[in-house]
Amino acid sequence: MDRSRRVFTYHAPGLALLVLAARGRAAPPELSEDDPKARALGYVGDAKRTDRAKFPQYDEAQNCANCQLFEPQPGSVGGACSLFDARLVRAAGWCSGYRAAM
Ligand code: SF4
Repeated sequence: MDRSRRVFTYHAPGLALLVLAARGRAAPPELSEDDPKARALGYVGDAKRTDRAKFPQYDEAQNCANCQLFEPQPGSVGGACSLFDARLVRAAGWCSGYRAAM
């Protein structure tokens, strides 16, 4: 067996596990602003677009990235939100379920 074949045979199982692990960590589907629950809670992918008349509790310093319910997804523009069944919300987003991180 030549050297390159031996190297491939030695590393193939590890590579297969890496591929399977990466698939297992695929980002969750992104929450749509048109989702009924998202609409009800005023979710927007960019907090600057929050309807301040409807949600006067919104503060400019608030966004998903500093909310307790946000779980960052490395390599993604957002993270999972437990309020929305772990669907992906944008780090710059906001909804009326916001809870300041401690
Ligand atoms: S609960 Fe928090 S993380 Fe989830 S959408 Fe609302 S502000 Fe973003």
